[in-house]
Amino acid sequence: MTDDALEFLSEILEMPAPTGQEMDAQRLWAGYIAPFSDEQHCDAYGSTWALLKAEDASAPTLMLDAHADEIGFSIRYIDEKGFARIERVGGSDVAIARGRRIRFQGTEGEVIGITGNTAIHIRDDGDKVPKLWELYVDFGCSSREELEATGLRVGDMGVYCDGVLMLQDNRIICRALDDRLCGFILAQIARELKSQDIRPEWNIIFANTVQEEIGCMGAEMLSYRLKPDAAICLDVTHATDSPGLDHGRYGDVRLAEGGCICIGPTCHPNLNARMELVSSQHDIPMQREVAGSRTGTNADSIFRSRRGVPCANLSLPLRYMHSPVEMADKRDVESCVDLMVEFIKSLKADDDFAHRLYDK
Ligand SMILES: [Zn+2]
Repeated sequence: MTDDALEFLSEILEMPAPTGQEMDAQRLWAGYIAPFSDEQHCDAYGSTWALLKAEDASAPTLMLDAHADEIGFSIRYIDEKGFARIERVGGSDVAIARGRRIRFQGTEGEVIGITGNTAIHIRDDGDKVPKLWELYVDFGCSSREELEATGLRVGDMGVYCDGVLMLQDNRIICRALDDRLCGFILAQIARELKSQDIRPEWNIIFANTVQEEIGCMGAEMLSYRLKPDAAICLDVTHATDSPGLDHGRYGDVRLAEGGCICIGPTCHPNLNARMELVSSQHDIPMQREVAGSRTGTNADSIFRSRRGVPCANLSLPLRYMHSPVEMADKRDVESCVDLMVEFIKSLKADDDFAHRLYDK
């Protein structure tokens, strides 16, 4: 990963993009990918895509998807003493929400608050996980009027302050690596194709879709609109190599051993087979995981769009998902980029991943 790529990564990770407020980060992403693609667009709700055209415009289209949004909180109520009660945006974990710093975006810019944490000495509930409505944010104000004067109102959203931290040589820590890191991977795939001067035989759409954390909404809108012939979703998956995780129950997925393809009904065997072939031909590490039914990613929306879209997952192993200390490994980022670049180079204009009753 080059220094300027890492700089872009930390810049886009610093930018808050809670579900429904993705546009600032989307504009930054579109600006970065623009030199490596032919067109950039966004839809009504902000899903943003870059198109790399095939030589022949009538060629089929591959959509590579990542999601732009992150989990967070929004203000539900401000009491007369100036404390705010909050609602969850997406799957924020209440168990770890106390004693944190949160950046809220108000009408007059950012306002930082902390989630109050009654001291352990005087708390009657001991170690009990709080209810969502028991959480509150203390902005350092003494009244509702004082807080409202900062420009904050009911509905304003915030995310944890935690920014990027590197541990040792390869471990990246931040909030929102789910799934900003895969949006970054999309941009690096485009950049690598450009640097190798590759004009693919398929049209390639790099899609950074909104509103995944509340049910894969942006990807549903975008796959309907763009009608891809195949799609690969890049999202994070649970690495199970930290203490206390039973592999019999959760599978065996490790950091630094490559992206994961998913085996399950949503994920098309023909696409998976091609990814495995590319992985073995180019000696790029890859892992396997299973999804008995839904994948829990945008693939669940895209694969059933219109008449059905052959779809697959390439998932980045991640520890501590939906926390301010999500952890990924730089080598996995690089191997996912390499795998997708070689996958795209493997595409022939007459490739077709759909099932056929008879051979062509
Ligand atoms: Zn995700």
